[in-house]
Amino acid sequence: MDYRKRYFFILAVLLPALLVSCSSQPATVHPIPVTGATVAAVEGSAQPTVLSPERAMPTASIQAQPSTSVSCKSPAALTPAVTEGPYFKANSPERADLLDTGITGTKLVLSGYVLTAGCQPVPNAVLDFWQANAQGQYDNSGYTLRGHQFTDAGGRYQLTTVIPGLYPGRTEHIHVKVQAPGGPILTTQLFFPGVQQNDSDSIFNAKLLIQMQDAPDGKQGSFNFIVNTK
Ligand code: FE
Repeated sequence: MDYRKRYFFILAVLLPALLVSCSSQPATVHPIPVTGATVAAVEGSAQPTVLSPERAMPTASIQAQPSTSVSCKSPAALTPAVTEGPYFKANSPERADLLDTGITGTKLVLSGYVLTAGCQPVPNAVLDFWQANAQGQYDNSGYTLRGHQFTDAGGRYQLTTVIPGLYPGRTEHIHVKVQAPGGPILTTQLFFPGVQQNDSDSIFNAKLLIQMQDAPDGKQGSFNFIVNTK
């Protein structure tokens, strides 16, 4: 084999080998980005837990609202449970303002705390409210005047709604389910002071009276829930 033939032999045999080894390199590199992509996908699927920071967000806005005093003496009596009634609907929307377009009546801003029997605030407790409109009617086909919310980092909630109307056999009341994280569900109702029908309503309980005061655009109410956390 002369010099030229030997040169072509080297090109013919060694160059393809070199090309193969180069092209196979990315195959060993791929697993790293693939692993990274897998992690990103898992983080993406875990996105719903990002809702938690949103639940904590009301802290700033609620601090700007009129403060509700925490009147609680440890050990505090648990908030009494009363009957759920026939009109509860699961899966209410998460919202603190129930004043949809067309809602009439006296505006009520109800606020307070969810507390333990030791008067400690309960952050991230869920409160699910439902009530009749000012004419005493429930929306059983949709979610008018229904909504759930979570207490902020200080255990505080605030509901914007209207004062419910009377319906046969019942005084004015707002239904609510309250649950501390990991705790039992408290099902109860809140009542309004000075309503004549309170005296004739067998479900009425004076321990569930809202503290009311006038507000420039309606009424302002206050009620603190004392709940079990286990
Ligand atoms: Fe009711």
